[in-house]
Amino acid sequence: MTRLAALVLALVLAAPAWSAEPPLALDGNIEQGGLVIGRAAPGVKASLDGTVLDVDGSGVFAFGFDRDHGRSANLTVLYPDGTSVERKLAVAPRDWQIQRVEGVPSKYVTPPPEAMAAIARGTKLKKEARATRAAGSFFTETFIWPATGPISGVFGSQRYYNGEPRRPHYGVDVAAPTGTPIRAPAGGTVTLADADMYFEGGLVFLDHGQGVTSLMMHMSRVDVTAGERVEQGDVIGAVGGTGRATGPHLHWGVYWRGAYLDPQLLVGPMDEAIAAAANE
Ligand SMILES: [Zn+2]
Repeated sequence: MTRLAALVLALVLAAPAWSAEPPLALDGNIEQGGLVIGRAAPGVKASLDGTVLDVDGSGVFAFGFDRDHGRSANLTVLYPDGTSVERKLAVAPRDWQIQRVEGVPSKYVTPPPEAMAAIARGTKLKKEARATRAAGSFFTETFIWPATGPISGVFGSQRYYNGEPRRPHYGVDVAAPTGTPIRAPAGGTVTLADADMYFEGGLVFLDHGQGVTSLMMHMSRVDVTAGERVEQGDVIGAVGGTGRATGPHLHWGVYWRGAYLDPQLLVGPMDEAIAAAANE
Protein backbone atom coordinates (compact mmCIF):
# COMPACT_ATOMS: atom_id res chain seq x y z
CA MET A 1 0.00 0.00 0.00
CA THR A 2 1.34 3.45 -0.92
CA ARG A 3 1.53 6.12 1.76
CA LEU A 4 -1.19 8.07 -0.03
CA ALA A 5 -3.49 5.05 -0.10
CA ALA A 6 -2.79 4.41 3.55
CA LEU A 7 -3.60 8.04 4.37
CA VAL A 8 -6.87 7.91 2.41
CA LEU A 9 -7.82 4.66 4.14
CA ALA A 10 -7.06 6.17 7.54
CA LEU A 11 -9.24 9.18 6.74
CA VAL A 12 -12.09 6.94 5.56
CA LEU A 13 -11.90 4.85 8.72
CA ALA A 14 -11.75 7.94 10.92
CA ALA A 15 -14.71 9.69 9.28
CA PRO A 16 -18.18 9.14 10.72
CA ALA A 17 -20.44 6.90 8.63
CA TRP A 18 -22.08 10.09 7.35
CA SER A 19 -21.04 13.68 7.92
CA ALA A 20 -24.08 15.88 7.25
CA GLU A 21 -27.35 14.22 6.30
CA PRO A 22 -27.80 10.57 7.33
CA PRO A 23 -28.33 8.41 4.23
CA LEU A 24 -31.98 7.85 3.26
CA ALA A 25 -33.26 7.17 -0.26
CA LEU A 26 -36.86 6.32 -1.12
CA ASP A 27 -37.77 4.65 -4.42
CA GLY A 28 -41.18 3.65 -5.66
CA ASN A 29 -44.61 5.25 -5.66
CA ILE A 30 -45.74 7.46 -2.82
CA GLU A 31 -49.38 7.18 -3.82
CA GLN A 32 -52.44 5.08 -3.05
CA GLY A 33 -51.60 1.48 -3.99
CA GLY A 34 -47.88 2.24 -4.19
CA LEU A 35 -44.91 0.29 -2.84
CA VAL A 36 -41.93 2.24 -1.53
CA ILE A 37 -38.43 0.88 -0.95
CA GLY A 38 -36.24 2.67 1.56
CA ARG A 39 -32.46 2.46 1.65
CA ALA A 40 -30.76 3.83 4.73
CA ALA A 41 -27.78 2.27 6.54
CA PRO A 42 -27.02 -1.00 8.32
CA GLY A 43 -28.46 -1.10 11.80
CA VAL A 44 -31.25 1.46 11.33
CA LYS A 45 -34.70 1.12 12.79
CA ALA A 46 -37.63 2.41 10.76
CA SER A 47 -41.30 2.96 11.41
CA LEU A 48 -44.26 4.22 9.41
CA ASP A 49 -47.03 5.93 11.36
CA GLY A 50 -45.89 4.06 14.44
CA THR A 51 -45.73 0.62 12.77
CA VAL A 52 -42.25 -0.84 13.15
CA LEU A 53 -40.92 -1.91 9.73
CA ASP A 54 -38.71 -4.89 8.94
CA VAL A 55 -35.22 -3.76 7.90
CA ASP A 56 -32.67 -6.06 6.27
CA GLY A 57 -28.97 -6.25 7.15
CA SER A 58 -28.00 -3.55 4.66
CA GLY A 59 -30.66 -1.09 5.82
CA VAL A 60 -33.28 -1.80 3.12
CA PHE A 61 -36.96 -1.73 4.04
CA ALA A 62 -40.34 -1.76 2.28
CA PHE A 63 -43.72 -0.25 2.96
CA GLY A 64 -46.86 0.44 0.98
CA PHE A 65 -50.07 2.44 0.85
CA ASP A 66 -53.53 0.95 0.65
CA ARG A 67 -56.09 1.98 -2.00
CA ASP A 68 -57.85 4.14 0.57
CA HIS A 69 -54.83 5.54 2.39
CA GLY A 70 -55.05 9.16 3.57
CA ARG A 71 -53.06 12.04 2.12
CA SER A 72 -50.04 11.80 4.40
CA ALA A 73 -47.81 9.38 6.27
CA ASN A 74 -44.88 9.79 8.65
CA LEU A 75 -41.68 7.83 8.22
CA THR A 76 -39.15 7.75 11.04
CA VAL A 77 -35.65 6.33 10.64
CA LEU A 78 -33.40 5.94 13.67
CA TYR A 79 -29.67 5.52 13.03
CA PRO A 80 -27.21 3.51 15.14
CA ASP A 81 -25.44 6.70 16.27
CA GLY A 82 -28.67 7.98 17.77
CA THR A 83 -29.58 10.49 15.07
CA SER A 84 -32.98 10.22 13.45
CA VAL A 85 -34.77 11.45 10.36
CA GLU A 86 -38.49 12.21 10.16
CA ARG A 87 -40.08 12.43 6.72
CA LYS A 88 -43.63 13.56 6.18
CA LEU A 89 -44.74 11.85 2.98
CA ALA A 90 -47.47 13.31 0.76
CA VAL A 91 -49.44 10.27 -0.43
CA ALA A 92 -50.96 11.06 -3.83
CA PRO A 93 -54.64 10.17 -4.18
CA ARG A 94 -55.97 8.35 -7.25
CA ASP A 95 -59.27 7.98 -9.08
CA TRP A 96 -60.87 4.55 -9.31
CA GLN A 97 -62.98 3.03 -12.03
CA ILE A 98 -66.28 1.26 -11.67
CA GLN A 99 -66.39 -2.22 -13.16
CA ARG A 100 -69.52 -4.29 -13.66
CA VAL A 101 -69.05 -8.04 -13.94
CA GLU A 102 -72.06 -9.94 -15.21
CA GLY A 103 -72.72 -13.64 -15.57
CA VAL A 104 -71.09 -14.63 -12.29
CA PRO A 105 -72.62 -17.87 -10.94
CA SER A 106 -74.86 -16.77 -8.05
CA LYS A 107 -73.12 -19.13 -5.57
CA TYR A 108 -70.09 -16.80 -5.80
CA VAL A 109 -72.10 -13.59 -5.36
CA THR A 110 -74.33 -14.80 -2.52
CA PRO A 111 -72.75 -18.04 -1.26
CA PRO A 112 -75.24 -20.68 -0.09
CA PRO A 113 -75.09 -21.97 3.52
CA GLU A 114 -73.39 -25.21 2.42
CA ALA A 115 -70.43 -23.16 1.12
CA MET A 116 -69.68 -21.68 4.55
CA ALA A 117 -67.33 -24.47 5.66
CA ALA A 118 -65.23 -24.14 2.47
CA ILE A 119 -65.14 -20.35 2.81
CA ALA A 120 -64.13 -20.61 6.48
CA ARG A 121 -61.33 -23.05 5.60
CA GLY A 122 -59.97 -20.58 3.04
CA THR A 123 -60.25 -17.64 5.42
CA LYS A 124 -58.22 -19.53 8.03
CA LEU A 125 -55.49 -20.51 5.53
CA LYS A 126 -55.17 -16.93 4.28
CA LYS A 127 -55.09 -15.49 7.79
CA GLU A 128 -52.30 -17.88 8.82
CA ALA A 129 -50.28 -17.08 5.70
CA ARG A 130 -50.73 -13.35 6.19
CA ALA A 131 -49.45 -13.55 9.75
CA THR A 132 -46.00 -14.54 8.45
CA ARG A 133 -43.37 -12.38 6.79
CA ALA A 134 -40.60 -14.11 4.84
CA ALA A 135 -36.89 -13.33 4.90
CA GLY A 136 -35.09 -11.72 1.97
CA SER A 137 -35.47 -8.50 0.01
CA PHE A 138 -36.59 -9.88 -3.37
CA PHE A 139 -38.97 -6.93 -3.63
CA THR A 140 -35.96 -4.90 -4.79
CA GLU A 141 -35.85 -6.92 -8.04
CA THR A 142 -37.41 -5.33 -11.12
CA PHE A 143 -40.71 -7.19 -11.29
CA ILE A 144 -41.77 -9.04 -14.44
CA TRP A 145 -45.31 -9.82 -15.62
CA PRO A 146 -46.26 -13.31 -14.35
CA ALA A 147 -48.24 -13.85 -17.58
CA THR A 148 -48.99 -11.67 -20.57
CA GLY A 149 -52.23 -10.90 -22.39
CA PRO A 150 -54.95 -8.25 -22.54
CA ILE A 151 -55.53 -6.48 -19.23
CA SER A 152 -59.17 -7.15 -18.38
CA GLY A 153 -59.33 -5.60 -14.92
CA VAL A 154 -57.27 -2.97 -13.10
CA PHE A 155 -56.48 -2.33 -9.46
CA GLY A 156 -58.90 -0.39 -7.30
CA SER A 157 -62.10 -0.59 -9.36
CA GLN A 158 -65.33 -0.55 -7.43
CA ARG A 159 -66.88 -3.85 -8.45
CA TYR A 160 -70.44 -4.90 -9.01
CA TYR A 161 -71.08 -8.62 -9.51
CA ASN A 162 -74.40 -9.20 -11.30
CA GLY A 163 -75.30 -5.68 -10.13
CA GLU A 164 -74.41 -6.32 -6.47
CA PRO A 165 -71.74 -4.04 -4.97
CA ARG A 166 -68.77 -6.01 -3.63
CA ARG A 167 -65.35 -5.02 -2.38
CA PRO A 168 -62.96 -3.25 -4.76
CA HIS A 169 -60.78 -5.16 -7.17
CA TYR A 170 -57.44 -5.59 -5.42
CA GLY A 171 -55.26 -6.70 -8.32
CA VAL A 172 -54.76 -6.73 -12.07
CA ASP A 173 -56.43 -9.25 -14.36
CA VAL A 174 -54.61 -10.64 -17.38
CA ALA A 175 -56.72 -12.59 -19.87
CA ALA A 176 -54.87 -15.70 -21.06
CA PRO A 177 -55.85 -19.23 -22.06
CA THR A 178 -56.17 -21.96 -19.46
CA GLY A 179 -52.79 -23.66 -19.06
CA THR A 180 -50.68 -20.56 -19.76
CA PRO A 181 -47.67 -20.73 -17.39
CA ILE A 182 -47.61 -18.29 -14.48
CA ARG A 183 -44.12 -17.13 -13.56
CA ALA A 184 -42.88 -15.70 -10.28
CA PRO A 185 -42.77 -11.91 -10.85
CA ALA A 186 -39.84 -11.74 -8.41
CA GLY A 187 -38.09 -14.20 -6.13
CA GLY A 188 -39.68 -15.20 -2.87
CA THR A 189 -41.03 -17.81 -0.51
CA VAL A 190 -44.37 -19.54 -1.07
CA THR A 191 -46.52 -18.95 2.01
CA LEU A 192 -49.76 -20.50 0.73
CA ALA A 193 -50.48 -22.90 -2.11
CA ASP A 194 -53.95 -24.39 -2.46
CA ALA A 195 -55.66 -25.72 -5.57
CA ASP A 196 -59.22 -25.43 -4.30
CA MET A 197 -60.18 -22.18 -2.57
CA TYR A 198 -63.87 -21.21 -2.76
CA PHE A 199 -63.56 -17.73 -4.27
CA GLU A 200 -59.94 -17.76 -5.46
CA GLY A 201 -59.82 -21.25 -6.98
CA GLY A 202 -56.17 -22.28 -7.30
CA LEU A 203 -54.33 -19.77 -5.11
CA VAL A 204 -50.66 -19.04 -4.39
CA PHE A 205 -49.16 -16.46 -2.03
CA LEU A 206 -45.53 -15.62 -2.77
CA ASP A 207 -43.75 -13.47 -0.18
CA HIS A 208 -40.99 -11.37 -1.78
CA GLY A 209 -39.62 -10.49 1.67
CA GLN A 210 -40.84 -8.36 4.58
CA GLY A 211 -44.40 -9.41 3.73
CA VAL A 212 -44.49 -7.84 0.25
CA THR A 213 -46.57 -10.65 -1.21
CA SER A 214 -47.89 -11.54 -4.66
CA LEU A 215 -51.06 -13.57 -4.82
CA MET A 216 -52.18 -15.45 -7.90
CA MET A 217 -55.78 -16.60 -8.22
CA HIS A 218 -58.02 -18.77 -10.39
CA MET A 219 -55.13 -21.07 -11.28
CA SER A 220 -55.89 -24.30 -13.15
CA ARG A 221 -52.71 -25.84 -11.77
CA VAL A 222 -50.56 -25.10 -8.72
CA ASP A 223 -46.94 -26.25 -9.10
CA VAL A 224 -45.49 -25.11 -5.77
CA THR A 225 -45.99 -25.91 -2.11
CA ALA A 226 -45.90 -23.72 0.99
CA GLY A 227 -42.38 -23.09 2.25
CA GLU A 228 -40.78 -23.42 -1.20
CA ARG A 229 -38.23 -20.82 -2.36
CA VAL A 230 -38.62 -19.69 -5.96
CA GLU A 231 -36.58 -17.44 -8.22
CA GLN A 232 -37.95 -14.75 -10.49
CA GLY A 233 -39.28 -16.36 -13.67
CA ASP A 234 -39.87 -19.82 -12.17
CA VAL A 235 -43.17 -21.36 -13.25
CA ILE A 236 -45.42 -21.60 -10.19
CA GLY A 237 -48.58 -22.85 -11.89
CA ALA A 238 -50.95 -22.17 -14.76
CA VAL A 239 -53.77 -19.78 -15.67
CA GLY A 240 -57.33 -21.01 -15.21
CA GLY A 241 -60.87 -19.92 -14.49
CA THR A 242 -61.37 -21.60 -11.12
CA GLY A 243 -63.32 -19.97 -8.27
CA ARG A 244 -65.23 -16.72 -8.84
CA ALA A 245 -64.17 -16.11 -12.43
CA THR A 246 -66.22 -15.67 -15.59
CA GLY A 247 -63.43 -16.92 -17.87
CA PRO A 248 -59.78 -17.96 -17.80
CA HIS A 249 -57.50 -15.20 -16.58
CA LEU A 250 -54.75 -14.53 -14.08
CA HIS A 251 -55.63 -12.35 -11.12
CA TRP A 252 -52.37 -10.95 -9.74
CA GLY A 253 -52.63 -9.11 -6.46
CA VAL A 254 -49.95 -7.69 -4.18
CA TYR A 255 -50.22 -6.86 -0.52
CA TRP A 256 -47.92 -5.62 2.19
CA ARG A 257 -49.18 -6.37 5.67
CA GLY A 258 -52.77 -5.08 5.65
CA ALA A 259 -52.43 -2.95 2.55
CA TYR A 260 -53.34 -4.05 -0.97
CA LEU A 261 -51.00 -2.56 -3.56
CA ASP A 262 -51.27 -2.01 -7.31
CA PRO A 263 -49.15 -4.64 -9.14
CA GLN A 264 -49.05 -2.49 -12.27
CA LEU A 265 -46.94 0.07 -10.41
CA LEU A 266 -44.26 -2.63 -9.95
CA VAL A 267 -43.86 -3.76 -13.55
CA GLY A 268 -43.17 -2.14 -16.89
CA PRO A 269 -45.79 -1.75 -19.62
CA MET A 270 -47.48 -4.94 -20.81
CA ASP A 271 -46.70 -4.28 -24.50
CA GLU A 272 -42.97 -4.24 -23.74
CA ALA A 273 -43.31 -7.55 -21.88
CA ILE A 274 -45.15 -9.09 -24.86
CA ALA A 275 -42.50 -7.78 -27.31
CA ALA A 276 -39.70 -9.16 -25.13
CA ALA A 277 -41.39 -12.59 -24.95
CA ALA A 278 -41.79 -12.64 -28.76
CA ASN A 279 -38.06 -12.05 -29.18
CA GLU A 280 -36.99 -14.94 -26.97
ZN1 LIG B 1 -59.14 -10.04 -10.61
